[in-house]
Amino acid sequence: MPVYNLNTSISYLKGVGPSRADLLRSELGIHTFGDLLNFFPNRYIDRTQFLKINQLQQNTSEVQIIGKITSIKTVQQKRGSRLVATFADETGTMELVWFRGAKWIKETLKINIPYVIFGKTTYFNRLFSMPHPEMELVSTYKNKLRTAMQPVYPSTEKLTNKGVSNKIVSGMIQNLFEEIRSNFSETLSPSIIEKLKLISKNDALFNIHFPKSQELLSKAQYRLKFEEFFFIQLQLIRKKIVRKAKIKGFNFEKVGANFNDFYKNKLPFDLTNAQKKVLKEIRKDVGSNAQMNRLLQGDVGSGKTIVALLTMLIAIDNGFQAALMAPTEILATQHYNSIVALLKGLNISIKLLTGSVKTKERRIIHAELESGKLDILIGTHALIEDKVQFKNLGIAIIDEQHRFGVAQRSKLWEKNELPPHILVMTATPIPRTLAMSVYGDLDISVIDELPPGRKEVKTAHRYDSNRLSVFKFLKEEIEKGRQVYVVYPLINESEAMDYKDLMDGFESISREFQKPDYQISIVHGKMKPADKEYEMQRFIKGETQIMVATTVIEVGVNIPNASVMVIESAERFGLSQLHQLRGRVGRGAEQSFCILMTSFKLSSDAKVRLQTMVNTSDGFKIAEVDLKLRGPGNLMGTQQSGVLNLKIADIVRDSQILKTARNFAIDLLTQDATLRASENNLIKLAYQEISKNSTIWSNIS
Ligand code: ADP
Ligand code: MG
Repeated sequence: MPVYNLNTSISYLKGVGPSRADLLRSELGIHTFGDLLNFFPNRYIDRTQFLKINQLQQNTSEVQIIGKITSIKTVQQKRGSRLVATFADETGTMELVWFRGAKWIKETLKINIPYVIFGKTTYFNRLFSMPHPEMELVSTYKNKLRTAMQPVYPSTEKLTNKGVSNKIVSGMIQNLFEEIRSNFSETLSPSIIEKLKLISKNDALFNIHFPKSQELLSKAQYRLKFEEFFFIQLQLIRKKIVRKAKIKGFNFEKVGANFNDFYKNKLPFDLTNAQKKVLKEIRKDVGSNAQMNRLLQGDVGSGKTIVALLTMLIAIDNGFQAALMAPTEILATQHYNSIVALLKGLNISIKLLTGSVKTKERRIIHAELESGKLDILIGTHALIEDKVQFKNLGIAIIDEQHRFGVAQRSKLWEKNELPPHILVMTATPIPRTLAMSVYGDLDISVIDELPPGRKEVKTAHRYDSNRLSVFKFLKEEIEKGRQVYVVYPLINESEAMDYKDLMDGFESISREFQKPDYQISIVHGKMKPADKEYEMQRFIKGETQIMVATTVIEVGVNIPNASVMVIESAERFGLSQLHQLRGRVGRGAEQSFCILMTSFKLSSDAKVRLQTMVNTSDGFKIAEVDLKLRGPGNLMGTQQSGVLNLKIADIVRDSQILKTARNFAIDLLTQDATLRASENNLIKLAYQEISKNSTIWSNIS
């Protein structure tokens, strides 16, 4: 007799065979016994509940009723016939209907004997009926060992069409349990099981597929969700520990003359407490002999640039070079200009490197980098080209990381023998639970406070039919000397439709805001970079009052006098995009406004998005709503992580379990980093097994 284990191919399982095995592989990704075992139901039907006929409601869920058939008739219809049975309990009557197999079924039905029927009901002509009920005599029903909660497995159309029904899948899993004789090894340590009062792995697997009660089902779900999160966290945290232990970093021992001079004499404002806190975290990292790999989150306008600058000064004071990389030329230029202005009077050499820097100047930059003459290099991805070599790059700072791919970022690592410290700055707030699972191996700092004196951007939702009053409002603001953005969605660069919207909008604005009183800039993706730049500059200099643009308005551009943001077809934007766009205004002293224009036709999700924007400007709250609406799979960065492959846990719904799992993983690794203790042997074995299939654990940083 063959011996089966969890790595056995699924085609050897009783009831599967080659063609079903193919289906399981292609439709559900189930290749082995183990895959099937870990294929969990996505819901359960409660078969502990019985309804009376007079309790039936007009909805679509399955019900279970006890009663008797009182009469049967065959009704002729256009094609063939249907079988109709009258079914009654002490509270009323209903109909059972069969459209197929009428002849055979009629012979098996028993009159006036109690049955348990199960299925979905429909309501027609003031009568409930149940087509093709599952039915069983009460006498057999009582004798059968059954699970109260019936599992329902995820399925696909193809599986259903090929007859691989829920019952069949459930049957396969039953066969699997028989073959393996319900003997699955434990994967957690006795002390974790004890502390969390978990049920055993064996019981959890059994009850997730064949729950004996609601209570055991809940325990099984908890245990398996915990375990799933726990092993992900173990991997992430181990990676972090290993990195800190193995990858030595430059030690920035001191805070020196440049930092102190700047801090005391040049800094134009007091740092917020949040900025101070983050700076302390960074200083601790860069002075620890280990390489820093830190993610700095801070909402738009929270003042990340100054933190970046102070960090670079620490590097320079310790004899190192610093690099700051931005996703676009405009942003890089803006960083360059503002940092040059801030550092005026200090003996620090700064250069800008972008795609449009001429070869001659480029050569000079390359040479000065290699000789060490240059202290700070600011630029776009031109900065990571192989030709760009540093004498001693100590820190690389990346602004707005979501525009960069993982591969690009890792290129910065290779700019030195020892990898430089890495600080990644993002203005896209990441909900805590998501950050834990996606960036769990990075250190995370948060600037959760805006500089004082900022006025919240007043946000309103207006329908297209209110356009005239919106125009009137814009005129009033322009009259006061303000500037206005009008943004159109550009979902797809090649969509002719989107450009038509933009050009139509531009025309109607041009009609309403005529020269010479008004000057309008327009910027979109089909323009040449030089023309774009020219139009941007006209707006930045205040020569134009209105900027009509597609979403190419660069993330992070700072134009304090622009205080009104009109977003057209706002329902077509995602929440984080809306939040980013709104962040373009509210940067000056004036009251700023954001107007979300939409048509009347709005999906319920769109309504939630718009309402959220009107109600709050807290980027983290907005990110939480976004996560709930879209799930982790669509949020930035998650594509590379294990959170997409979760089998049972859900980072939104099970966030408490996630936190517990993370804490347990941290505790465990703090006490026993290499899982050497015999008490942790089971965890170690399971961990090794999981790490073997480690393709999902790509390196984020
Ligand atoms: P972001 O985090 O979006 O990159 P910036 O670094 O561009 O934000 O800062 C936004 C604006 O706030 C800048 O004009 C900057 O000079 C100003 N700022 C930053 N920190 C402070 C502070 N502590 N007090 C007052 N203004 C500040
Ligand atoms: Mg910025």
